[in-house]
Amino acid sequence: MSQSPTSPTGQAELAAAVAGLMPRAKAELAELVSFRSVADPRQFPVEECEKAARWVADALRAEGFTDVAVLDTPDGTQSVYGVLPGPEGAPTVLLYAHYDVQPPLDEDAWVSPPFELTERDGRWYGRGAADCKGGLLMHLTALRALAANGGVPVTVKVIAEGSEEQGTGGLERYAEAHPELLTADAIVIGDTGNFRVGLPTVTATLRGMTMVEVAVRTLGGNLHSGQFGGAAPDALAALIRMLDSLRDETGATVVRGLEAEAAQNWEGLQYGEPDFRSDAKVLDGVGLIGTGTVADRVWARPAVTVLGIDCPPVVGATPSVQAAATALVSLRVPPGLDAARAEEALTAHLTAAAPWGAQVEITSRGQGQAFRADTSSPAYAAMAAAMSAAYPGEQMQIAGQGGSIPLCNTLATLYPEAEILLIGLSEPEAQIHAVNESVSPEELERLSLAEALFLRSYAKR
Ligand SMILES: [Zn+2]
Repeated sequence: MSQSPTSPTGQAELAAAVAGLMPRAKAELAELVSFRSVADPRQFPVEECEKAARWVADALRAEGFTDVAVLDTPDGTQSVYGVLPGPEGAPTVLLYAHYDVQPPLDEDAWVSPPFELTERDGRWYGRGAADCKGGLLMHLTALRALAANGGVPVTVKVIAEGSEEQGTGGLERYAEAHPELLTADAIVIGDTGNFRVGLPTVTATLRGMTMVEVAVRTLGGNLHSGQFGGAAPDALAALIRMLDSLRDETGATVVRGLEAEAAQNWEGLQYGEPDFRSDAKVLDGVGLIGTGTVADRVWARPAVTVLGIDCPPVVGATPSVQAAATALVSLRVPPGLDAARAEEALTAHLTAAAPWGAQVEITSRGQGQAFRADTSSPAYAAMAAAMSAAYPGEQMQIAGQGGSIPLCNTLATLYPEAEILLIGLSEPEAQIHAVNESVSPEELERLSLAEALFLRSYAKR
């Protein structure tokens, strides 16, 4: 072809190719969704994951990928890998998605069966439709559109993880043991989503997390609250006081030693308070907690959450002063704050907050680092142009995500030079992880086009 690939004509041809591929994308997404690929053998047969892995491997081979392999990862699950060699000297781009899904939860609460892709009101419903089987179709559709329009101009590696949702870390361990496998100049993680349908968004930061179990003991055994209550040191009361010390009067997280991080500001897309209230389903008359903008609070600052407390449940409770109580506490760690330092500060704060000389034992229950991409890199410039073209009239937005994607940190650590971009189909309406998950076909079409345009322009970086 004589025209420049970035000419408007080239864009129009790619857009037409993606549009023409949409019926196939829907049919193939339906096949993928039909596999009940929950990576937990206690819930669904392993064969469901194996069938999905085989489907992905076959799809890659059909696109001309070489070295397609179903990798046995240390957690007993399988990740699918393949390479599509590009022109001599072209950069390498790694495309990530996962084929495992969250369990369907209450199947009766689904309007249509969770493992049958069903169209309703302009969306396609099914478990994994957005998170992240749709992400796989996004990658495949982008590559197919390029293949039909002059070829894929970069070397592409695809890695489809088999246990992202279970958090068992198989692919992370495998990648660490085979550090050459996923080397790339740019990495597109197709597992996040636009801030809103129609607003193209790259997620550039992820909070990390640390989790601790806090056990408090005060007595040799439970006591009658009538006979002893009032003087006997109550372990549950001590724990409540310790946990409450982690918030100020506005509800903002306060951990001694982390005051600077607790005042960081978010620069980038802002999260409007009405939007947040509606996304979070906050009840009428109930206020938000914390200070600063909503984006500051959910993307740029630490946030503590009590995940569980071991104490007697209401039904069956007896009139007793508790001798022991335990809580599981998580602290979301913003970019720039080391998760180990955050855990030390949290542990020291809770220990110091224990009243009445109560005995406190704090055990680490895991931690993951935060992530921040370099948004000034060539890949971000290429993606910004691609997204503006795929979403006419819109500019690429930079958002954060309050949660973590551990593999992202593994890749950032293994390949510090690689430019990492997080995009995908999990916009708020997709209701990922909940019942009635769905994907927007328009988003699938536009993001497939954006990814194709990105690969074209990144080839000439
Ligand atoms: Zn996902």
